[in-house]
Amino acid sequence: MSNDNKSIHEFDLDLICEYYSNLERQGPGSPEITLKALSFIDNLTDESQIADIGCGTGGKTMVLGQHAPGQIRGIDLFPKFIHLFNEHAKKLNLQDRVKGIVESMDQLSFQEEELDLIWSEGAIYNIGFERGLKEWRKFLKKGGYIAVSEASWFTNGRPDEIHEFWMDAYPGIDTIPNKVKQMQHAGYIPVASFILPENCWIEHFYEPQLEAEKKFLKKYKGNQTAEFFIKNQRHEESLYYKYKDYYGYVFYIGKKL
Ligand code: SAH
Repeated sequence: MSNDNKSIHEFDLDLICEYYSNLERQGPGSPEITLKALSFIDNLTDESQIADIGCGTGGKTMVLGQHAPGQIRGIDLFPKFIHLFNEHAKKLNLQDRVKGIVESMDQLSFQEEELDLIWSEGAIYNIGFERGLKEWRKFLKKGGYIAVSEASWFTNGRPDEIHEFWMDAYPGIDTIPNKVKQMQHAGYIPVASFILPENCWIEHFYEPQLEAEKKFLKKYKGNQTAEFFIKNQRHEESLYYKYKDYYGYVFYIGKKL
């Protein structure tokens, strides 16, 4: 890869994007958990309009596509992810109903009250949980649903090391009751919230990365940015094993009033 004309920042993003392109999922989750969240949504028909915001390469969107009726649009900022997403849909013969579009979640082009369901696994943090819930609400029909997964604290207090890590990474992390309250204040009935089990992090997220990390380090041997990135990934993973009693991902499902 040539980085002659790119800023360090752009180069970083390209590298991170390439790394995640080699993984089926770009965040914690599992097919079982996607289906569990889907089981709370009761308004879908063949006419339904669904958006998966921050869909990545679509590992989870395809599970939705295979189990939910209607049209699904996957939205992601990165063209490479959307390219892989659309190939993925074709392979599964879902291309007529499941389509990837490059767009930013803070400038969505949906019509007001167009959507029956907004989905977003491990991605709303990019805009912030409260802001995303408030700004996306107008795109939902009355009685439409939103289902998002989001990093959350499990306890009121926690060791300094993990607290400081998250305050730096995503200060929007909060306890489950506070997130539920935010959902209610944003104009939704909080229909359900549940913690993603550990296998969503271990078997479905961190373990598949071992192989991807090896390949990546081999390809970018001596590249400091790549080596630093992988070191960070490993640090984040070790913190998960050490502190998984204190935080994790939680699915929040809400219904527009
Ligand atoms: N939902 C996927 C991906 C989660 S990772 C999964 O669970 O596997 C978060 C995703 O958000 C990434 O694919 C990233 O490219 C995307 N993203 C980051 N900022 C974005 C923005 N402003 N608009 C749309 N997508 C964004």
